[in-house]
Parts: sequence; structure tokens; C-alpha cells
Amino acid sequence: MTRHLRPLALMLAASALLAAIPAPAQTGAPPPQQARTTPGYFRTMLGQFEVTVLSDGTVTIPLRSILTHAHEKTIDGLLRRAWIDPARSETSVNAFLIHTGGRLALIDAGAGKLFGPDAGRLVHSLRASGYRPEDVTDVMLTHIHGDHSGGLTVDGKAVFPNALVHVRREEAEFWLDAVNKPKTAARHAHAFDQAGRDLAPYLAAGRVRMFDADGELVPGIRALAAPGHTPGHTLYEIESEGRKLVLWGDLIHAKDAQFPSPGIAILYDVNEQAAAGRRRAVMAEAAARGHLVGAAHISFPGIGRVRAEGKGYQWVPLNYSEQGLSRPGG
Ligand SMILES: [Zn+2]
Repeated sequence: MTRHLRPLALMLAASALLAAIPAPAQTGAPPPQQARTTPGYFRTMLGQFEVTVLSDGTVTIPLRSILTHAHEKTIDGLLRRAWIDPARSETSVNAFLIHTGGRLALIDAGAGKLFGPDAGRLVHSLRASGYRPEDVTDVMLTHIHGDHSGGLTVDGKAVFPNALVHVRREEAEFWLDAVNKPKTAARHAHAFDQAGRDLAPYLAAGRVRMFDADGELVPGIRALAAPGHTPGHTLYEIESEGRKLVLWGDLIHAKDAQFPSPGIAILYDVNEQAAAGRRRAVMAEAAARGHLVGAAHISFPGIGRVRAEGKGYQWVPLNYSEQGLSRPGG
């Protein structure tokens, strides 16, 4: 074979090889769309603590008709400015898993089967994040409402069989005592029925720890009273190596309305006035100190900081980071 023929021979050999490889099947359609957004969790570090935000999914609520202490037009304007439908506002349900090294503490337990088809995904999210329900050592409730405690118990069984459930005594006793039901607005009636069911298997097993005062429940996690939304509503302050994350529970439901106007309340508040007062105070502190904040109903993952703006505040979501996971404290 002369030298100048070699490229031609190579081309012929290559085309023979290509002809031998079967062409990919041409079905004309990709697999069905997956219809899920995230795998259900978001992770960051706080000093030596690993923080995992677990999505329980969403609930869709008519914010226009349940937000109070502001004219409907004002509420509509604030929500529409953020492209939120005031009549059908899809609202995140977030829970927070803190691995302190010694404990695996879950702050709030999601809705279980109590809310619509888009909620109740907490266990799925927990497993996707690398942990099992039986790994959870502590569940700390911000309060006893279905979207925070419904996921404790499903079909009468404890979802977190090895966990100690921490709840403020005032909160548990309020919802567990039927005497309070007729004294409270009718719209809260279902919470009395559901509280006993959610706690039953843990009470029966002696795994409920009712605390009376603020303070450290496990090393690095402190309870802080914030009554208003419910009588024993509690924030949890997580601290490691001087870095702080304050979990707000239901201090806020509609970030696009209640950050600019913290005086706007919601019908879910047992005491709307007290809830609004507490919201103002806690937002002011978060804005002044610049610590991290996590909230149950701020759009997933609901973790960020607060900035003072005008007469109100603005939510600043946490910057996405991969480096923060591999360099604790970073
Ligand atoms: Zn809630």
C-alpha cells in the first residue's frame, strides 16, 4: 500500500466499523416528566452542626381571605408584587434536622396525612437526605398545629420510634385539655382533636418531655418562648462555634406580606395581636444581629437572613454553597 492511499484505507475501515454499531432506537419521545422539583432537602453547615432543611411539600391557602389587620387591596398588592396568587397561594412546609454530632434533632414533623396531596413528604425527604426515621433522637415542636405535629404519628403509629418529643408544657396542656376548646375561636377546634392523636403513642411510651422554661434542651439547641400564634409557640436557637440559626416556626406565614408589614396577622393565630408584636420584636433582633433564620412557611428551603427596610423588613435567602459543606464553619 502506497503512502498516499493510507488515509482512504483508514476512512473505509472506520465507516465499516460505524456500520457495525446499531443506531440508537428512535422512539421519538423522552421519558415522562418527573413532576418533582428538589429531592426534598437542602443542606448547610452551622459551625460543627449539620443543618438539613427537609421539605414536607406545600399547602395551597387563600392568603387574601385569611390574612388580617390590613385591607384586602393592600394584601393583594403585596402578594401580586411577588407574583403570588392571593386566592391560591402555594406555601412551603419546612422542617429542620440538626445533626449536632451527639444528637439528630428534628424541629417540627410535617403534616403526615393531615394535609392535601402536596404535603406529608417529610419522611421521603429525610430518607433522601441520608437518614432514617429511627435515627432521629429528638423531635422539638415549635407548636402543636397539624402541619408541624401531624407527621409525628401516622395511622396511630409513632413515625420516630426512638425519639424523645420536646414540647413546651403550656402548649401541650392547652391543646390536650378539652376545657379550652369552647373558650377558643371555633376555627381552632380541629387542633384540639388532632393534638391528642399526634402525641398519643409518644405519651403512651413515656417519650414526651414537657419543658416549662426557656433554656438548652440538648447541647447547642435552646428553646425561646414566642407566644401569640399559639399559647406555647416556641422558637429554637441553634448555636455552634459562635454561629447562630434561629428557627421561627410559625412566626411568619406570608413572607411577601408580613416582612414589609409585620402587623399583618393570620386567622391561624390564636392571639393575632400578640403574634404581630412578637413578629416585630423577633424580626428587629434578626435584622440587628444578622444571624441565620429558618422558617416553616418561607419558600423552601426557608433559610436566610433579615434586613431592615423602610418601616418593615426584607427576606434575604441564603446564598447557595457547596464549599460550606466541606469546610465546617465556613
Ligand atoms: Zn404552620
